Amino acid sequence: MDTFIKSEEMHQATLQALQDRGVGLLDIAQITLFLQSKYVPGLTIETCLENVEQVLEKREVQNAILTGVALDVMAEQHALPQPLQHIIETDESLYGVDEILALSILNIYGSIGYTNYGYVDKLKYGILDWLNDKKNGTHTFMDDLAGAVAAAAASRLAHRYRSLQEQEQELNE
Ligand code: MG
Repeated sequence: MDTFIKSEEMHQATLQALQDRGVGLLDIAQITLFLQSKYVPGLTIETCLENVEQVLEKREVQNAILTGVALDVMAEQHALPQPLQHIIETDESLYGVDEILALSILNIYGSIGYTNYGYVDKLKYGILDWLNDKKNGTHTFMDDLAGAVAAAAASRLAHRYRSLQEQEQELNE
């Protein structure tokens, strides 16, 4: 039988990878707050953080983050074969595999995730701006991953808020 990696080990490795790459959960939660605050009255950073933490429990998300971070780190160490080394190091605009990997995160929470991701990616909001500055390291994958986690958390929040509203509406009927 194949041995398999335990969920908790994947979760811890993911949190460690984010921390090692300078991305705090609070940084991601701030993007989620920015995305959802106009739709969810009284939304707090704590609620956003809870949703980010829930997103990071998903195996698909952990897989994407661990894969992307490994490639970013190897690019920083000049350990990738050419021409991939050059492509990832320079964040070549025609590459696009970083965005494709981020889609595996957005897929989980449905279509509003895509809109939110596109929006923060364009704006380079918060930590995304830092990640896009080359002097802070090679974050070709991480900028998309962080944006996608924030967008997925925003979608999760939006879906939950809607269910809550529906429940309230039923109670009032
Ligand atoms: Mg990128």
